[in-house]
Amino acid sequence: MSETLFDAEQFEDERFSNPMVQKHGPGPGGAACGDCKYFRRMGSLNRPYDIRYRKCEVRGITHGPGTDHKAGFHACSLYEEADES
Ligand code: SF4
Repeated sequence: MSETLFDAEQFEDERFSNPMVQKHGPGPGGAACGDCKYFRRMGSLNRPYDIRYRKCEVRGITHGPGTDHKAGFHACSLYEEADES
């Protein structure tokens, strides 16, 4: 077993800057948060601008940018594939 969670290349990769990965460890290889059942796209399209906020339900949802969460983040170990429906 590896002594570290990340190798040097992963450490430089922005997808691995997911704070949930740093807290819970990496999820299955190739999985991204945007495909996880805990990923949320919030906001309204009924405005002059496309205002959507992306959040991880497990990480916590606030009304501020501190919990904004990228769909392209590498999944954490709590990843569960979202239903297609
Ligand atoms: S629970 Fe899901 S959405 Fe949240 S960080 Fe982990 S993989 Fe991403």
